[in-house]
Amino acid sequence: MKLKWERFLMVEVQSESVEELEGVEAGAKPTTSLYRRRSPLSSPQYQIERLAAVDLSHTPHQADFAKTLASQGIQTFRPARLENFQINVGKLCNMTCRHCHVDAGPDRVQENMDRATVDACLRALDQTEAHTVDLTGGAPELNPHFRYLVEECVARGKHVIDRCNLTVLLLPRMQDLPEWFAERGVEIICSLPHYRKFNTDAQRGDGTFEKSIEALRRLNAVGYGNGDPQRRLTLMSNPAGAFLAGNQAKMEQEWKAGLEKNHGVRFDRLIALNNMPISRFLEWLEQSGNLQRYMEVLVNAYNPATVAGLMCRNTLSVSWDGRLFDCDFNQMLDLECQLPGQRPHIRDFDPKLLAQREIVTGTHCFGCTAGAGSSCGGAIDA
Ligand code: SF4
Ligand code: SF4
Repeated sequence: MKLKWERFLMVEVQSESVEELEGVEAGAKPTTSLYRRRSPLSSPQYQIERLAAVDLSHTPHQADFAKTLASQGIQTFRPARLENFQINVGKLCNMTCRHCHVDAGPDRVQENMDRATVDACLRALDQTEAHTVDLTGGAPELNPHFRYLVEECVARGKHVIDRCNLTVLLLPRMQDLPEWFAERGVEIICSLPHYRKFNTDAQRGDGTFEKSIEALRRLNAVGYGNGDPQRRLTLMSNPAGAFLAGNQAKMEQEWKAGLEKNHGVRFDRLIALNNMPISRFLEWLEQSGNLQRYMEVLVNAYNPATVAGLMCRNTLSVSWDGRLFDCDFNQMLDLECQLPGQRPHIRDFDPKLLAQREIVTGTHCFGCTAGAGSSCGGAIDA
């Protein structure tokens, strides 16, 4: 007899069989989800408590993010103009990377946006002036309504970004996706920990690098990575340990040269992000004994010049079940947008009310303001 989530996947996802997503051929799985292991860290509240338990009393402003903002004259942290409408369509993924801040994996079949919520997102989008729709997950391509959502956003003249893990493009039902994306001018932001095999496979599991290179070749073959703004190919890198992202411009040069020379692969730009101390990366920090030190690094590297460019200022993040958040990280910590007297949902989208909200912050926010800063678009103060 099939488990409940297996039946769900067969009926609702319809894209890959459970076996196909679970197998290593579909993507490496160096770990399993916290949810599947029933780890206490699968609870957002528990993650917040773990971060609060780290002794940072000796750091500037005792690592109080609100106090840190206040020290530069920001008493109330509010959003600016909404530019990016980010939709996290679910936690389903063909991989299970160690550093995942979403706790995604092939077992996360329940958390997948349904058609009614997709349509509510589109209605909300029509009420905004956001120029970009940023689709993320999990592996967003695995959502059964993904292509419908992309088509509708493109038809509305929006710039659409697909945050792609590359290996998903090799699944049998995804073979046509590179060309499909190219025809619609979708920007692909691909996560790749490193341009060297060893570093990538260490974080994402054996075989990931080779699959990623194959996927990049397929994207190159349909015109991505050659400077065409309608076929923009961006690579996104996270450090493979408890340290800050490197210099983005320098890394881009090195990666471009390395990938072209060794693999004949091209891309347009590279963005470098800090790892956020949440979910499976938080688990890794704890297990490796790095949590205290990493939090100190983040807090001590606070860069006031990053604040104006933080993604929570120009982005709204919608979860698979239609709840609204200031950013994807707050979404993973279950820190919903704060509106007086209500829990905001995409069904009741009110852009004027949302524009007046105060952004919810916490200790994890130091991950965005450390060093050159980190946002959806990479370094802020590069
Ligand atoms: S990091 Fe990306 S590819 Fe890896 S498990 Fe998470 S969502 Fe999937
Ligand atoms: S985690 Fe980053 S983007 Fe999210 S609210 Fe904090 S500073 Fe803003």
